[in-house]
Amino acid sequence: MAASMRSARLHEPGQPLRIDTVEIPEPRPRDVLVRVKACGIIPNMNAIFSGRLWNHLPPLPASVGLDAAGVIAKVGSEVTDVAVGDRVYVNPWLSCGTCPYCRAGDPMLCSAAAFQGYFGFFPHSTRQLLDYPFGGFSEYITASPQRLVHLPPQRPSSKPRASDISARRTLRCVSARCAAAAGSRSTELPARWEWARHYSPSQWGQRAFSALAAIVTCLHN
Ligand SMILES: [Zn+2]
Repeated sequence: MAASMRSARLHEPGQPLRIDTVEIPEPRPRDVLVRVKACGIIPNMNAIFSGRLWNHLPPLPASVGLDAAGVIAKVGSEVTDVAVGDRVYVNPWLSCGTCPYCRAGDPMLCSAAAFQGYFGFFPHSTRQLLDYPFGGFSEYITASPQRLVHLPPQRPSSKPRASDISARRTLRCVSARCAAAAGSRSTELPARWEWARHYSPSQWGQRAFSALAAIVTCLHN
């Protein structure tokens, strides 16, 4: 494997991305390295990367790109549930694993949440973005196995993998957030829905199309 790769990086808010040559990251013991085959593009990226919105950009220069799909190229020494060659979509949602919401089993409500390759929701989301600093506009990215969604032609396992369960939970939470963003009332954790109103259903629609485009493109490569 080559030691370097190309990565589209944001050097300055509101300015065009630059294609830089950087070192291929080494996955941590519990992470994997994914060779990116496709990545979504959503119109809202221009606004997000303008630096003029409420979101928190990753430390610059930042490798960007949301909703990547590809093939696992390397696994960390402690990874057992996935293997080199697996075709996967990388769920970009990053959660801290230690806040009360994460410990209660609701990582979608994480108080330090971020989207890998995109932005953080809170000032202290930076740690998640530093742990996974590469976005899908790079030739390789690192990710935790829990965020991987396996793609065909793999035969479905008789016993669901942890990553498949995680994907279903994610979809359920995204649906709930769409409802919150559309103005629906929730009796659960109402304060935590406040920031969800930053979203509009159309933006979630853009994300859905972005993810779908990445998956479909990966399946044809
Ligand atoms: Zn958390």
